[in-house]
Amino acid sequence: MSNSNNTTRLMSWNTHSLISRFSLCEYFSKNEFEKVAVSPLDKFISKCRDRLLEFSLVFHKDLYNRLGLGHPDGRKVESLETIGDFIRIFRLNPQTQFHHVRVYRLEELSPGTGHDVSREGPPGHSYIPVEVGAEIPVFEIICAYSDEPDWGMDQNIFSVREYGLANPPFGPVKGMSSQAPFHMGFPHESRLAYWIVPSLGRSLVSTRVRMCLGLSEIAFAQGMDYWGWRFAAWAAHYLQDITCPVHCMPIPVAPKALIVNLMMNPSPTKFFKKCRDLFRNRHGLFEASVCYLMNKSVKQDSDRRLIDVLLFASDGLDANVDSVIRSASETPHNLAPKIIDFLVNLYSYPVVDQPERYVNPEGEFLINGLLEEAITKRPQFYDGFVDSVCKCLEQAGRVTRFVIVTSRRGAQHDSW
Ligand SMILES: [Zn+2]
Repeated sequence: MSNSNNTTRLMSWNTHSLISRFSLCEYFSKNEFEKVAVSPLDKFISKCRDRLLEFSLVFHKDLYNRLGLGHPDGRKVESLETIGDFIRIFRLNPQTQFHHVRVYRLEELSPGTGHDVSREGPPGHSYIPVEVGAEIPVFEIICAYSDEPDWGMDQNIFSVREYGLANPPFGPVKGMSSQAPFHMGFPHESRLAYWIVPSLGRSLVSTRVRMCLGLSEIAFAQGMDYWGWRFAAWAAHYLQDITCPVHCMPIPVAPKALIVNLMMNPSPTKFFKKCRDLFRNRHGLFEASVCYLMNKSVKQDSDRRLIDVLLFASDGLDANVDSVIRSASETPHNLAPKIIDFLVNLYSYPVVDQPERYVNPEGEFLINGLLEEAITKRPQFYDGFVDSVCKCLEQAGRVTRFVIVTSRRGAQHDSW
C-alpha cells in the first residue's frame, strides 16, 4: 500500500502492462474471480514434451524461411528435458530466466510516486515476486507478462553460433537493440527504404507471434493454464510493439527530409552511421515519454486521453498474423513522422535533434521535470502529440483484446 516513503521513489508500470490492463479491464471485470496457480516451466515442459518437439519443427521452418536460410539439415531437435533445452529449441537468449512476478495493483502506487521510464525486467521498479503454487488472477498474469519479451529473451540471439541464424536482418548483433528484428516490422515502407536496406522485409515479429500462440494452445490443451496465459501475453506484446510508430517505421522522418539528407550524404552506410543517434534519440524519447505520460494519467488521474482510448478500442480482427500486423501498423506508420515532429518540438531540447549525440531517456537523460516544463510551455505540441499517439494506442488496444479473448483453453488459431 502507499506510504510516505514511496512518494519520491520511482515505481512505475511498463507501457505494455498498462496497455494490457486498460484494453482488457472491461473483459476481465466479467471474469474477475478467475485465478490460476503459478506453475514452473519445467512442469510445462515435462507435460507437453512431445507436442512441443513437434511444434518446434514448425517454428524452425517459419524462422529459417523468413530469414531466407531455408530449413537446414541437422537441426532436428532430439531432446527436450530442461529449461535450457526449451530456450535453445525456441531460439531465445541463452541467459533468459523465467521469473514469477506480478505488477503493482492500482491501489499500490500513490499519486506522488515518481514515474520510472526504464524497462528493466524483474526485480526492476515494476514487479513483485510471487510464489510457485500461488493462485493469481489471469488478468495479473497478462499485465505482468505482456512486458516479458522486453526483459532480454530476444537479445543476442544472432550471436549464438549453434542457432545458425547468420546476421540479423537489421539492428546490432548484441545488446539491448539486438532484439529489434523480433520487435519491429516494416510492412508499409516505400520502395526507396527497401532499396536502401532490402532486409527490412525480414522482420521476425510474425514468427514470434505464431510461436507464442502455438505454445499457448499447447499449454491450454494440457490444462497448463498459467503458461497458456503467459504465452498469450507474450503474443500481445509483439502485436502491441508493431502498433508503436517507432517500431513500424525505421526512420521516422518525412520522406522529403529523408531524400534531402540522402542527397547530402550519398553513401547509405555513411548516412545511417551519421544519423544513428538521431534515430535512437527519437525512438528512446518517444517510448520514455509515452511511459511517463501513461503512468502520470493512471497515478494522478489527469488527462486520461491515452488511457481512455484503450477502454473503447474495438476487437474485430479475423485474418492471419501477417495481415493483422499489416493492418494494425498502418495508422502508426502513417502518423510516425508527424508524431516525432510533435515530440521534438515539444521538448525543444537541442541535444535531441543532433546527429551523433545520444541521449538515453532510460539512463542519464531524465525526462522527469523536463517533460512537465515542456507541456506548460508548449501545450499545442503536447496536444498534437497525445491526440496522434491515441490513434496508435487504439490499434494496440484492438490487437490486445483480440489475442487475449481468443486465447483460451480449446481455442484454435486456425485462421492465423
Ligand atoms: Zn518489445
